[in-house]
Amino acid sequence: MRAYDSYVAKQGGRMAERVREPIPDCWFCATPKAKTSREHIFPRWLTGELGVRDEEVTPMHVRLEAPNADHVMTKRPLAGFVATRICQECNNGWMSELETTARPVLTESPRKGRLTRAEAEILARWFAKTAVVLNVSQNFRLLVEARDRHELAIGIPNNATVALMRLSPAAGKTVDWIQTSPMTALVPAAMEQAAVQRIIERTLQVNIQVGDLGAVVTFAARPNTTEAVEGYLPAATPIWPLPARLPAWGSLPRYDSARDVAVTMRIVQNPFVR
Ligand SMILES: [Zn+2]
Repeated sequence: MRAYDSYVAKQGGRMAERVREPIPDCWFCATPKAKTSREHIFPRWLTGELGVRDEEVTPMHVRLEAPNADHVMTKRPLAGFVATRICQECNNGWMSELETTARPVLTESPRKGRLTRAEAEILARWFAKTAVVLNVSQNFRLLVEARDRHELAIGIPNNATVALMRLSPAAGKTVDWIQTSPMTALVPAAMEQAAVQRIIERTLQVNIQVGDLGAVVTFAARPNTTEAVEGYLPAATPIWPLPARLPAWGSLPRYDSARDVAVTMRIVQNPFVR
């Protein structure tokens, strides 16, 4: 059992929906007894480039079991956020390649013109991977199944969405994130409240800021795909699944904090009922 699940169970009360799997040797592949390594959640080149490696952050997640008590963790320097149970093959292989490809897009300055398909795909995969590394390593319910975690090695699972935003200078050039579930949903009139609650709880939403760029990543409950959920209505600009027309950098909405950006999900069918 993950430490976070035991912690919540000890508090008593109802456990919100979550993926229940034995803890794997590597979160990102099926290799048993994989030789593990420590992965910096935000790569050292990024925190170095932003000059925030020693900056202390207080990551936050919202507990649905006690929605009025946001669970704020203790302050730690950014460089101290590492994920374990990621094997050397994943870490030095596809993850390292993804960092190399994403670096110029993440740090591009100034950002001009329209996003290309290649840039959108790289950013979407990098933010989706980062959201999953946060989900498996930080205190929150596990909400991404093994098959979707493993697929990140080659692409982006079809239950993931990514929307972009810019951060205003007031936000500071830092790294920040929050894990939660969508706070509101548009639902069919006939759907029972309990079903809506389950679907919402089983949906991961991670808002991430890296410097002046931010993203809202969602992972829908299986067997839903993003088509079956029929999309999210984020207050950011969707780039994944690839839209017919990608946005211009200048048209992305700007916020003072990546944490404040809410997502409304539109549920068209219950993923738990076939
Ligand atoms: Zn692995």
